[in-house]
Amino acid sequence: MDVLLVLGAWLCCLLLTIFVLLFGQNAAFAHTPLPRLHWLITQGLCHVVRAGTQRAGGRRGAAALERAGELCCERSNPAVQLLFLAMFVTCYSIFFVYIFPWLPVGSVSAMHKYTGTAAALGCLTAFLAACYSDPGTVTAANAAAHAALYPYDGLVYEAKECWTCGVPCPARSKHCRTCGRCIARMDHHCIWINSCVGLLNMRWFLAFLLSTAAICFYAAVVGFRVVRTHMALQGAWAKTFIDPDTEGLVHLGDSCQYVMRYLSAYYGPQVAVTFFAGAAGWIVLGFTGYQLWLVCAGLTTNEVHKRRQLALARQLEAEQQQVEAQVEAALAGQRTGSSGSLEAGRGAGAAAADGGAASRQREQRRPAKKQPRVALPNHYDRGAWRNLSEVLFPEFHLRQAAAAAANGGSSPAGGKKRA
Ligand SMILES: [Zn+2]
Ligand SMILES: [Zn+2]
Repeated sequence: MDVLLVLGAWLCCLLLTIFVLLFGQNAAFAHTPLPRLHWLITQGLCHVVRAGTQRAGGRRGAAALERAGELCCERSNPAVQLLFLAMFVTCYSIFFVYIFPWLPVGSVSAMHKYTGTAAALGCLTAFLAACYSDPGTVTAANAAAHAALYPYDGLVYEAKECWTCGVPCPARSKHCRTCGRCIARMDHHCIWINSCVGLLNMRWFLAFLLSTAAICFYAAVVGFRVVRTHMALQGAWAKTFIDPDTEGLVHLGDSCQYVMRYLSAYYGPQVAVTFFAGAAGWIVLGFTGYQLWLVCAGLTTNEVHKRRQLALARQLEAEQQQVEAQVEAALAGQRTGSSGSLEAGRGAGAAAADGGAASRQREQRRPAKKQPRVALPNHYDRGAWRNLSEVLFPEFHLRQAAAAAANGGSSPAGGKKRA
């Protein structure tokens, strides 16, 4: 089989896996097969391996696998971090070995060797900063400052204390079970950086995403231009070849198949890295756009989920009240009407109650498929620029909020209760 086709299929599988890991739990893809694929990759395969080990190795084998599984899946581990680094180093190595030595070629300057290397180092620096900087761990010492920046809204957040950490939970914070700590303005736990994305490292996470998207497109453009120019200089398009099937003379441009075979034979690594970089760039750009939109809207990934659940609960409550009002009206009709209308009233009341119960049952059966119609106010949306500024300069806003609270500004109110 054509080497380039095998490589293309492998790259497509890899990109699909990355896409599923990034977007599999996103609400926007709730109606697609992505959530099932995400479950299959993150949990389903583990179940299959567990069942196989139990059969082959008995109880001891199953217990050993259980310990290994807990270490890999439940606790913080660098597996996906290393996967990213492996992909990054492989792509850069292909450029270093197969593309940089050809530069300069045609109008493609030799400067790309240095700007490409500088861009790779910049991306790696943003990655390491996102991985190893504090995401915003809530401690007894800083809980008040975090609470001053984001007071409880009484809607999604209320005053409480974390059972595990024993610290007050500021609004917008969440305890991460994988990291074992409470994180301020918790967005999500990211397996790519093996850390939480929170108030203090969101800027590095955004820098990492933006630089990854930028370097992917940069690599794709340079790779494409180098291959195209190199082929033109080699006179590839004017050459004639012998078709192995017909044994007749053909030109490269006669068929896409000839172009694919030629690229596979002479430019395999260059084309593979160009294709991978281009496709990965679009995926990362999509995720970057979503994260930027969340930041500008004053939301976090965690809040999108929480608010959706809350909106659905409120909608259900409103529907229940509507049904109760209908039953109430039907019973009132019974008291004032004739015996005939009494029966009709009972019938209407029962139908309304049945309809409400059926609606609730449907709701309970398919909670993920129903989109809430209730719009909740967002008290943390202070305008796109201010929201962005809080993420880019969190220390400044924390200091400002703490100073305002110390000078008699509003402070979080309400009794504590355990989380
Ligand atoms: Zn905690
Ligand atoms: Zn975490």
